Amino acid sequence: MSAYRVAELLHEGKAKRVYRTDRPDVVAVEFKDDATAFNAQKHAQLAGKGALNCRISALIFEHLVARGVPTHYLGIDGSNWMLVRPVTIIPVEVVVRNVAAGSLCRQLPIAPGTLLPQPLLDLYYKDDALGDPLLTEARLQLLGLLDAAQLSVVQQLALHINVELSQLFERCGLQLVDFKIELGFSSDGALLLADEISPDTCRLWDRAVADGNDRILDKDRFRQDLGGVVEAYGEVLKRVQGECPQPRVYG
Ligand code: UDP
Repeated sequence: MSAYRVAELLHEGKAKRVYRTDRPDVVAVEFKDDATAFNAQKHAQLAGKGALNCRISALIFEHLVARGVPTHYLGIDGSNWMLVRPVTIIPVEVVVRNVAAGSLCRQLPIAPGTLLPQPLLDLYYKDDALGDPLLTEARLQLLGLLDAAQLSVVQQLALHINVELSQLFERCGLQLVDFKIELGFSSDGALLLADEISPDTCRLWDRAVADGNDRILDKDRFRQDLGGVVEAYGEVLKRVQGECPQPRVYG
């Protein structure tokens, strides 16, 4: 007998559906097989991707919870469902970069693969219609999205998560190139890590592969039409499940 019942759809995103449940303190997230890139201009169905991302995210949330990171995560149910605490998502995509890749190399004269002297934190305004523009601190204040104290908490949390994830992936033989997180406020005002952490939202390179596209084990395989997307995500799952606590089943 389940501890909750899924009720109406609250939000449908590109890779997940979010549902209210009959419990006010529990929201149900369904991971879909849809893959999108370039602001959803490129779209495909990749059978098994939803289950892989659900499992990988759950394993990583379990690891981060054990390391003291506050998250919305409550557990999983079946292959594609994650139960989380309801949060008000801050419309800011928080990106941490360790190695230059992607938009950093398109926008600045930095060669892909350059190891950055220290982690670079980039904040983007989460708005597909505007193309997720890069934020400055002044723009963040102008929009009233975070005050100075909240921004400082976000920065510290993102850098802490970067240390934890980099070490975790290192033990898996993977280099954490960069990643995106989203944060939200719970009803009691706590700032929680939300959304997902998966090969859809991280760049991960296989440390055992010297160079080129073969080392890519993340969504860049889809973005760049390299093939083997689901296989790459499966490889990430295989590696992280040996290093994280098993996901708790909710209910
Ligand atoms: N990212 C994401 N969602 C977005 C934009 C970026 O999960 O809407 C992740 C992306 O997978 C990468 C990191 O954030 O791990 C940095 O992405 P970047 O700014 O380089 O943009 P991209 O090259 O993906 O357009």
